[in-house]
Amino acid sequence: LVSREFKATDTVIDVSGVPLGGNAVQIISGPCSVESQEQMDLSAKAVHEAGCRLMRGGAFKPRTSPYTFQGLGDIGLDYFKNAASKYNLPIVTELMDVRKIDLFLEKGVDVIQIGTRNMQNFDLLKEVGRLDVPIILKRGMSATIKDWLMAAEYIAAQGNQKIIFAERGIRTFETYYRNVLDVTAIPVLKKETHLPVIIDPSHAGGKAWLVPALSRAAVAVGADGLLIETHPCPSEAWCDADQALNPEQLKTLMKDLRAIAQIL
Ligand code: PEP
Ligand code: MN
Repeated sequence: LVSREFKATDTVIDVSGVPLGGNAVQIISGPCSVESQEQMDLSAKAVHEAGCRLMRGGAFKPRTSPYTFQGLGDIGLDYFKNAASKYNLPIVTELMDVRKIDLFLEKGVDVIQIGTRNMQNFDLLKEVGRLDVPIILKRGMSATIKDWLMAAEYIAAQGNQKIIFAERGIRTFETYYRNVLDVTAIPVLKKETHLPVIIDPSHAGGKAWLVPALSRAAVAVGADGLLIETHPCPSEAWCDADQALNPEQLKTLMKDLRAIAQIL
């Protein structure tokens, strides 16, 4: 269902009125995690002022260590929705547990993100496949293209074909940066699937200074969008501080990208 053989033309996904896919690039930005109402208000303002039309932020965080901040949980979704609504920004947030699906629907989550660690959580994929909500399916950090396409097929087979693929870097022998951004995956995915493909340069590079270069590369290889971490004050971020752009850096990046691509 996700293949070009099934459908030849590019699919544009309507995300609460904002198009994703097609001829222009859509930028999704926001903090790694929801920390407070104030932090989300400042983040939403920065995202809006930079000209981005979708906002990200995690209330449920898949952390490597169980002793680190796990996300604010339910209340985090309220802070997020409150802040984003002021600017009409649809919200993108990660779902890790099928038991939270009703909460996500109730809170008006516009896009459900399936993170790299859950790309092959097949029961989770099947459940989100029953919803009428767009899904961002991140590539598993060690997943092949085939694994990734088949994971999307699990969602699509249940009826939900609003799937957006997100390349976020894969694990290799290299340790200088967080992951290796697989730019090759973009033209390959665009050939294999009719669905939108975006790049997350933040989790790929793991450093804020790498984000602009990786973003330009993403646009150059034909990505339909970018998922960029921003924080009102990156040094104080509770999670992924090294890779967050500050509001000024986001604004500059958006301006630079507009010079080389059509940004929606
Ligand atoms: C995230 O987007 O905050 C995240 C945890 O991403 P990933 O699943 O790509 O690590
Ligand atoms: Mn993060």
